[in-house]
Formats: sequence, structure tokens, C-alpha cells
Amino acid sequence: MAHLIAIQENIFCEPCKDCGARPVIEHVKGGFLVRCPKDKSHYKTKTGLVNIDDWNLKNKVHPPLGNAKSPQKAS
Ligand SMILES: [Zn+2]
Repeated sequence: MAHLIAIQENIFCEPCKDCGARPVIEHVKGGFLVRCPKDKSHYKTKTGLVNIDDWNLKNKVHPPLGNAKSPQKAS
């Protein structure tokens, strides 16, 4: 069974980008991961240390990498 741990209210967490839920910490064999409490298929961090920074990075509405392609000009 999943062992979910609530993240303290004073710690800033981005809401899940898919459903808006506040993430939880899951205690699994081998460590911890930060995941969406509603759906296992939503983003979760790698198992290991609690990595809320990684969660926040991946759940930002605007992706951290500027991936804008410059449109090709047909001149
Ligand atoms: Zn979610």
C-alpha cells in the first residue's frame, strides 16, 4: 500500500500541472518521491530524497527551457 505523507503547509509547492492538486510525498522502498495524490500517471519525481524542487520545476505552467523556434521566413 502507498504510504503518503502530506507536505507541510509552509513549504511552497507548485500544484500538479495536470489536475491542480497539492503534491504529497510517497514513502516507497528505497526512498521517497513527490507525486500527485490523485493520479499515479501524473508527474512524480525519481525515488530517492524528497525533491520538491524537481517537482516544482516540472509542474511550472511555463516550461523552464525557452524552446521557441524562430519561424522560417519564406522570402
Ligand atoms: Zn495530478
